Amino acid sequence: MSGTVLITGCNRGIGLEFAYQYARDGWRVHACARDLVHAEDLQALEARFPEQIQLHTLDVNKDGQIKALDRVLGDETIDLLINNAGYYGPRGVCFGKVERELWRQVLETNTLSPLMLTQTFYPRIATSKLKTVAFLSSKVGSISDNQSGGGYYYRSSKTALNQVIKSLSIDLEGAGVKVVALHPGWVQTDMGGQNALISAEESVSALRTLLAQLDLSQSGSFLNYDGSVIDW
Ligand code: NDP
Repeated sequence: MSGTVLITGCNRGIGLEFAYQYARDGWRVHACARDLVHAEDLQALEARFPEQIQLHTLDVNKDGQIKALDRVLGDETIDLLINNAGYYGPRGVCFGKVERELWRQVLETNTLSPLMLTQTFYPRIATSKLKTVAFLSSKVGSISDNQSGGGYYYRSSKTALNQVIKSLSIDLEGAGVKVVALHPGWVQTDMGGQNALISAEESVSALRTLLAQLDLSQSGSFLNYDGSVIDW
């Protein structure tokens, strides 16, 4: 199976690996990053798969760039939108040290922008073959999993994202569009750190298998990379 995928945050980490694996397997890949000039690994990937990969500048928090990309895409359909770009924010911010503006930045990137992107590209998704929107959420956004407190910015942004995904699954069911919240595992990236349990290669392979098998009855669920359901 192949199709057209649009992925945000492709210059490093999980997004770069998604772009690589889909291009390798013959998909058409719209790979987005906010600073293409310094995205050396992504440029190298494009040079390796020039037929498959199309690069786009996209800061997910900039509506003007989202609209510009929508114009560039013309009448192309998007089978799979992967809302991957994410921001942890400053580390170790404990109660008493929370700052409004820093929190706002994390919410903007992790919660607001994925919905704005999905809204803008929806007509392309709804008329595609696969009709799928994937969101990189996180297990730390699970309220029932929260045993350690803290993480105010990031946790709340992913919890709110999960609620967005649930509503989308209900609103888009009639159109046959599948949406899913994915936990990629604890992954060795800049965000996950070197002590993380799995490589980006392992995580993305598993997520791609899961996405390939996804059906409408699973829309609106919160899935671990191994396919198991995570409690909200
Ligand atoms: P990284 O920190 O390694 O990469 C984050 C990516 O998001 C970068 O490409 C970054 O671009 C991009 N990004 C951040 N802000 C913006 C923005 N405003 N516009 C466009 N791109 C942006 O993270 P991972 O690859 O590890 O994570 C990918 C996703 O998976 C995230 O949503 C994350 O929350 C989630 N996740 C990751 C886990 C892990 O263990 N790694 C665990 C659970 C969830 P730039 O270089 O320009 O900053």
